[in-house]
Amino acid sequence: MEKRNIGAIALAVAFVLQLNPLAASARSEAPWVARHGVPKLAQTPDGKIATNDGDQMPEIKYELGKQPLKEHPGGASNEATARNFPISKGLAGVSMFLKPGGLREMHWHANAAEWAYVVKGHCRITVIDPEGHHEIKDFGPGDVWYFPRGHGHSIQGLGDEECHFILVFDSGYFSEFSTFSVSDWLAQTPPEVLSKNFGLPASTFAGFPKKEVYISQGPVPAPLPLDPVPGSENPPPLTHKFSLGGKAPVTTPGGSFNVVDQRQFPISTTMTGAILKMKPYAMRLLHWHPNADEWQYYIKGRARMTVFGSQGRSITREFGPGDVGYVPMGCGHYLETVGDEECEVLAVFNSGNYEEITLTEWLAKTPERLLETNLSVSPKIIEAIRKGQMLFSLPQPPANK
Ligand code: MN
Ligand code: MN
Repeated sequence: MEKRNIGAIALAVAFVLQLNPLAASARSEAPWVARHGVPKLAQTPDGKIATNDGDQMPEIKYELGKQPLKEHPGGASNEATARNFPISKGLAGVSMFLKPGGLREMHWHANAAEWAYVVKGHCRITVIDPEGHHEIKDFGPGDVWYFPRGHGHSIQGLGDEECHFILVFDSGYFSEFSTFSVSDWLAQTPPEVLSKNFGLPASTFAGFPKKEVYISQGPVPAPLPLDPVPGSENPPPLTHKFSLGGKAPVTTPGGSFNVVDQRQFPISTTMTGAILKMKPYAMRLLHWHPNADEWQYYIKGRARMTVFGSQGRSITREFGPGDVGYVPMGCGHYLETVGDEECEVLAVFNSGNYEEITLTEWLAKTPERLLETNLSVSPKIIEAIRKGQMLFSLPQPPANK
């Protein structure tokens, strides 16, 4: 009884807050304000912006592909983190290229799990978990890996072409203070300490790197044995590899959607990823994610995304290959293909369970009388909008084409 009353009071308070315009300033919990601090006014000279009332919206686009690459002997990378892309507090990403034999050195991340998608080429990962299980696996285009926070790992280019992959972390601050490289640690540690640690003379360590290696160039490693020597492996109970390209997507006339979360890939308890392919003139329908931020990397084609930020605000940006987009948790959004080419987008979420609510579905499941009262339109219109598509719109060219 007591509990019910408290519930009723809470509901009434929530109701009053929603209806009272004076409460709007007190109700400043636009998702990124609550989670990410005060938003910055979105400004790019060439980008399209559509804020309906001039209120502030944070920038949702970062041109990662146009940023200078940090070059190393065996490869190169650049990154989108909370430092250069302020909205991106919940997730951050790295675009990395490894030459054949190029080695992203042994390292771990203290504050983030790592989820990755191979765009092009081949590479090999090694990983160790706290129980001493280790896994060595080869990856090609469409493959995904997931390293739980703190698990040690390395990545090396294979084959005869450069390997390109996108790394996504479930913290916008993964990079600056929290990536721990083996060479950096060894360089920091006095030779006398290394001598004690390894039981070898201090002179053994004279030739070790003097600073962090990050990416080094070596020979292409030999193919993995088809039949490993019995006892030579100690694989983890849950594999770090998933072949997203090998999974059948949900396909509609307007596009396809292929998602992998921990239901298919049990080790990935904190992250989910998906490949969206949108046909020309199609649209990814109005929806939101109740449980996660969305980090996007545009692989092919062009699209326009609009993010709805509550309180009369929205922002629109156009994205092309190499661009990164970000949708804070709970913000409504949709994507429209631009041009005649199919658009392919990698979308990664900071939750192990994929969740979305699509506006069309909500309308379709809501009583017609309620919709008439809510939207003040005729029953005929209500009936029509309830029959909308799910996931993607039909790929319909505009009438003048
Ligand atoms: Mn890593
Ligand atoms: Mn989405």
